[in-house]
Amino acid sequence: MNKKKVLVSGASIAGPTLAFWLHRFGFEVTVVERAEELRLGGQNIDVRNEAQKIVQLMGLEHKIRAANTGEQGVRFVDAANQIKGEFPKGDVDFGTAELEILRGDLAKILYEATHENVAYIFGDQITDLDDQDSQVTVTFKKAAPRSFDLVIAADGIRSTTRTLMFGTEPKIKYIGVYCSYLTIPRIESDTDWAYWYNAPGSRVINLRPDNQGTTRASFSFLSPDNGYEKLDVTEQKAMLKQKFADAGWQAPRILAALEDSKDVYLDGISQVNAPHWTKGRCAMVGDAAYCPTPMTGMGTSLSIIGAYILAGELSRNANHEEAFTAYEKLLRPFVEDIQNLPPGVPWIAHPKTKFGIALFNTVIGIASSKLVKKITKRFSAKEKKEPKEQIKLPNYAE
Ligand SMILES: Cc1cc2nc3c(=O)[nH]c(=O)nc-3n(C[C@H](O)[C@H](O)[C@H](O)COP(=O)(O)OP(=O)(O)OC[C@H]3O[C@@H](n4cnc5c(N)ncnc54)[C@H](O)[C@@H]3O)c2cc1C
Repeated sequence: MNKKKVLVSGASIAGPTLAFWLHRFGFEVTVVERAEELRLGGQNIDVRNEAQKIVQLMGLEHKIRAANTGEQGVRFVDAANQIKGEFPKGDVDFGTAELEILRGDLAKILYEATHENVAYIFGDQITDLDDQDSQVTVTFKKAAPRSFDLVIAADGIRSTTRTLMFGTEPKIKYIGVYCSYLTIPRIESDTDWAYWYNAPGSRVINLRPDNQGTTRASFSFLSPDNGYEKLDVTEQKAMLKQKFADAGWQAPRILAALEDSKDVYLDGISQVNAPHWTKGRCAMVGDAAYCPTPMTGMGTSLSIIGAYILAGELSRNANHEEAFTAYEKLLRPFVEDIQNLPPGVPWIAHPKTKFGIALFNTVIGIASSKLVKKITKRFSAKEKKEPKEQIKLPNYAE
């Protein structure tokens, strides 16, 4: 019997995870990635919730643990570097996760687990899709046109394949905060803790350790949609310099490093809201379909969970229509729950005035006290039992 042929667009997290499971379930998989080679950039991300079980099933958990960033937890500091509160890893459900890894390391682990069984095409992309009844004919920017049984977009929040499939139906909702990441030289005073600093004017600076002898820095700030993500890198650097010049704490050090930074990345934090994730013989997975924003700490985990469910449903249903229906039915309530940001996010974490920051730090101090953490843990343990917060993963491997 001929194997069903699936084309996946995007080789980051969702794409290779989907390719892994599709291959395991007997599909013939091709992954097309726009970049010339595997993109190894990106900062600290985490594998949480049911995604941890999936990477266990993939036999990759030990590799992810071995590439751990070593982060011990999160410390909130003031301008004088006084610790106002701290949350060690494992103390609370937010903050440092058990499996913290650099995005590039995770992408590499997933690629290495699939490249022998999956055909990867780098430096190309889909430019047209002709979805007929029995197959999809795909036109590429460089390669000759080919036909596939199914085409899946796993090419991130700004997916162009999504537009070819769904037109303007999916909405990208900017949530009012810009975020910029860069790698800076590690200095002696950097520790294995992540640091969070609030500056007046709704500005935040984070420093986080990595496993490569450098430090990962980020700037975030509340702002109307000013299209900063469309500026070129030089313009983005100039904008950040101006914005954080008087921010205090370690801003001068990070801004000095920004000058020579090769990996600065800036985007307006946004969610993808798509009423449909599947259409005909096409579907979407990961950030392309339901980016929840980094504020939820669930973007990577959701990509892994979605990829596993999509592949699993394709393996156990008689046809792709039933599989796609099951994929949406099983995953959508979980996605909606995650995308439902708590009231006040992102404003609460970005106070505007000195008084607001003092108040924020006082609340952090109280929340990080041993007694309050104990109570919070109890509450979150209770809340975990609420069915809406949890997704019951089918065991497709059986
Ligand atoms: C370089 C990079 C750095 C990142 N850094 C961070 C970070 O520091 N912190 C954080 O929380 N999240 C970061 N992310 C986002 C994070 O990886 C995702 O939120 C999450 O893991 C979901 O992954 P995904 O595979 O759905 O999408 P993404 O990780 O966004 O991957 C999409 C992939 O598709 C490729 N692609 C895009 N368009 C096309 C196209 N038309 N055809 C073919 N391929 C295409 C991209 O090159 C990329 O490899 C980063 C993503 C990238 C690509």
